[in-house]
Amino acid sequence: MIYIFGSGVAGLSAGISLRKAGYKVTIISKKIRSGSSYWAKGGIAVATSADDSPDLHAQDTIRVGDGLCDVKVVNYVTHEIRNVISTLEEWGFIFDSDLRLEGGHSKRRVLHKTDETGRELTNFLLNLALKESVNIIEDRLLGLRTKDGRITGFVTEKRGVIDADKVILATGGYGYLFKFTSNPDTNLGEGIAIAFKAGALVSDMEFIQFHPTIGFFGNEPYLLTETLRGEGAILVNDKGERFAFQYDARGELASRDILSRAIYDQYQKGHKVYMDLSQIGSFEKKFPILSRYVEKYGKKIQVFPGAHFTIGGIRVNLRGESNIKGLYAIGEVSDTGLHGANRLASNSLAQNLVYGINIPQYIDRWEGLEVDDFMKIERIRVKSGVRLTIEEIRENNWNYLGIIRNAEGLSKLISIYENADTISNTPESFASLISLLASKSAFLRTESRGVHYRDDFPLKTWKDGKRIYFRMVS
Ligand code: FAD
Repeated sequence: MIYIFGSGVAGLSAGISLRKAGYKVTIISKKIRSGSSYWAKGGIAVATSADDSPDLHAQDTIRVGDGLCDVKVVNYVTHEIRNVISTLEEWGFIFDSDLRLEGGHSKRRVLHKTDETGRELTNFLLNLALKESVNIIEDRLLGLRTKDGRITGFVTEKRGVIDADKVILATGGYGYLFKFTSNPDTNLGEGIAIAFKAGALVSDMEFIQFHPTIGFFGNEPYLLTETLRGEGAILVNDKGERFAFQYDARGELASRDILSRAIYDQYQKGHKVYMDLSQIGSFEKKFPILSRYVEKYGKKIQVFPGAHFTIGGIRVNLRGESNIKGLYAIGEVSDTGLHGANRLASNSLAQNLVYGINIPQYIDRWEGLEVDDFMKIERIRVKSGVRLTIEEIRENNWNYLGIIRNAEGLSKLISIYENADTISNTPESFASLISLLASKSAFLRTESRGVHYRDDFPLKTWKDGKRIYFRMVS
């Protein structure tokens, strides 16, 4: 039996693909209809039009990744995604016929289904997985068992210890560990913490992508996608000023990191910020789902920047293999090197599908992760200490590990987490451990690169390719 943890796009696509290849599969998820996958709006990046190519897609990915992309992985994903999309279509998924343009892409190449691609795709995969007799159960992973560098089993909340020699983690990222976020509350980074405690190598934890425009409808965060600004939406503050041009000549079409800092700065100066949708033509046709909310809440929506996507995670090779034999990681829980220091829009679902659908090719031919590009492995000890709540962690991280960082704030944060409980198998302890790794990594990277911005080191000064790895000291 192959066990997969997580029922987002990564976990479900791997489960279906393995089942179709004749394997017995069980997917275990702490909440079946959950995860960022359901909330993805924009779509999936794939070079399909006549004037586009995987090489151009790769070039865009590498440019945005700001010197930290693993070029082998970039080429693999940008080429393979075309085959994987064909597989998805053979399985019966139908995309809308037009391609969308998103920030950072030199061509129209974002495949989508209405303005709720993630929800449509995840529901489709869930139904298909059930039809293919993939066993899907609700339970929570608490720990992994290893012996001599290989997986021997795992522990869950309801089932206790189960023997296994192949485990695929697809438990998503840690975006919910910030007070302002586009992520659902399932995304606490538990899979990364659990793998780390089992001996997995973890990397790139400082790279947290913030999205500039998250609105709230009631208490629910709702991502107001780039496409809206591409179609004419503008940003104004409470004095009615269209401020984006004060920060960048591209105004509302500046990159996510620049706009996130601009909006953050407006709030720091005591303003409120709104997205005004009234200038978008054929709004109802282009954004049918958002239109339903707009009917109730109006076309001027207050927006905040917030944590959106976490680049760091369990270091894996292009087969999804970690440094622990039998332990695979796919999707946002992993760090493949595709995104480098900044993720190109719509490359995340592309990566999930490539790693998920292709996994049967590798599942019986273990090679294992080899890391040859590292400069630094930091060794971290887990220990007992102060038990923080998730809300305290979210507040701390927003204040000191947020959009603008510096040594003073990060040192404060590191001392909080060094004195926190990081040894227990609770969500709070996992969240403290993840926050310790991310804040240490952000402290150690004494430069600004990609999504990592330090006001005490505002320039990009490190050698390209230099990343920070963590391993546990036992
Ligand atoms: P998730 O979909 O996050 O799923 C994680 C799963 O793990 C969940 O089922 C959860 O229940 C389970 N889990 C967690 N912990 C445990 C545990 N301890 N035990 C058992 N199960 C556990 N990317 C794009 O490419 N294009 C987009 O247009 C896009 N839009 C986005 C919009 C929003 C609002 C957000 C938040 C993200 C967006 N992204 C987009 C990013 C993308 O959606 C995610 O990176 C991707 O969906 C992650 O998929 P995943 O399968 O790795 O994890």
